[in-house]
Amino acid sequence: MQAKKVFNAMSPYTPGKQIEDVKKEYGLTKIVKLASNENPFGYSKKVKEAIPSMLDHLEIYPDGNATLLRNKLSTHLNVSADQLVFGCGSDEIVEIISRSYLEEGTNTITAWPTFPQYRHCAKIEGADVKEVPLKNNGDHDLAGMLAEVDENTRVIWLCSPNNPTGNLIQRNEMEDFLNECPKDILVVLDEAYYEYINKATNPNTIDLLEKYSNVIVLRTFSKAYGLANLRVGYGIASKEIATLLNITRGPFNTTSISQMSAIHALEDQDFIKYSYEQNIENKSYFKREMESLGLECYESEANFLFVKLPTSGDQLFEHLLSKGYIVRSGEALGHPNGVRITIGTKEQMTELSQLIKEYLSAVQTTS
Ligand SMILES: *Cc1c(COP(=O)(O)O)cnc(C)c1O
Repeated sequence: MQAKKVFNAMSPYTPGKQIEDVKKEYGLTKIVKLASNENPFGYSKKVKEAIPSMLDHLEIYPDGNATLLRNKLSTHLNVSADQLVFGCGSDEIVEIISRSYLEEGTNTITAWPTFPQYRHCAKIEGADVKEVPLKNNGDHDLAGMLAEVDENTRVIWLCSPNNPTGNLIQRNEMEDFLNECPKDILVVLDEAYYEYINKATNPNTIDLLEKYSNVIVLRTFSKAYGLANLRVGYGIASKEIATLLNITRGPFNTTSISQMSAIHALEDQDFIKYSYEQNIENKSYFKREMESLGLECYESEANFLFVKLPTSGDQLFEHLLSKGYIVRSGEALGHPNGVRITIGTKEQMTELSQLIKEYLSAVQTTS
């Protein structure tokens, strides 16, 4: 059988190490996973309490329109209900956008390194992918990305905060970019880490939609809301864009359990506030610890830090793995010299700092 030619040069996504595998491989009992930017505090108790009530009628297809969640979220975000599109994670929204706007003969522009699914989905559609390296400080090179625009450009992906560096695109830069960008190009603003952004210095981005009808904002219940396992993400855009994406979308792509859980999660903003505050505190603690060891991190507005290393991240990754801490080596993320570490609890970050310190002094004495 012959699949699309592009598959000759592609392979499946390699996820972070699984907890059970690491336990077996290293004979460990306690494992701390700080590899996928999940919420170390779990998810809202309100969701857990409500789940038993969601178990009736699993034989019935869910409401494909996600009406209750749609209405709840439209109030929460102050947008109209028909401006929303839901996905099986925002991963699926990336796929739906690619299927809707990209094909052979078109191209798309992303930063690099950034979230790899933009490139992955675009390639499957046969589009050319133009990758513009981040600036040295980890910021998107927005001018460089604009310089790549041509008449076949259909979609530009902006990841803010950027995964894996954590840098946020500042509001004025974003507006300058949108003013320059041709209005017939879809600009995707992926805000998977939105809830972790400091709102005092970075106002809401949804109001950009009023001025720029070519923007779609992506958010998710997977990160701060702690519902990665239930797979709910969404896009917010003009009614026209949302309508198109809803045509491409599979008819039953979110479940009743995921929709209802998302509603209960939204109602518990205290949990989000707690997660946000803990993240700020533990992130600045861990950053200071790394700096005291002579290691630099990018300026992160997310719930992870990318720690730069003089050598490949693989070595430190392997070392931490053997001690029961799973982090993400930069090798797998397009940034070999470093590791991306999810911000965990204070206790976890303290222990991890100690392990990194021991590792560095061991490396120094042997070299
Ligand atoms: C985690 C992540 C997503 C995908 O999350 P879903 O679980 O699919 O909602 C999207 N974009 C970025 C940048 C991410 O880090």
